[in-house]
Amino acid sequence: MSFRCDACGNKTRFDVFESKRVRTFQHFTLGGDMSVEEEEVLDHEIEKVVCRWCGSAASVVVENGETATLEG
Ligand SMILES: [Zn+2]
Repeated sequence: MSFRCDACGNKTRFDVFESKRVRTFQHFTLGGDMSVEEEEVLDHEIEKVVCRWCGSAASVVVENGETATLEG
């Protein structure tokens, strides 16, 4: 999946606002350091995509084979 801004033609730089629900496997050392060794995305939703070039959110469309307009 990729994005494209219809307003200015940008296809490479976007601010993506997304909410994600994940399960992480967190590995703690006895010294209290933590590292995430595994991450599983349970739920994922893109709320808004803003073009970095022109600042438009309404003109950004999703390209994944077929073209669909983002809601909102
Ligand atoms: Zn743009």
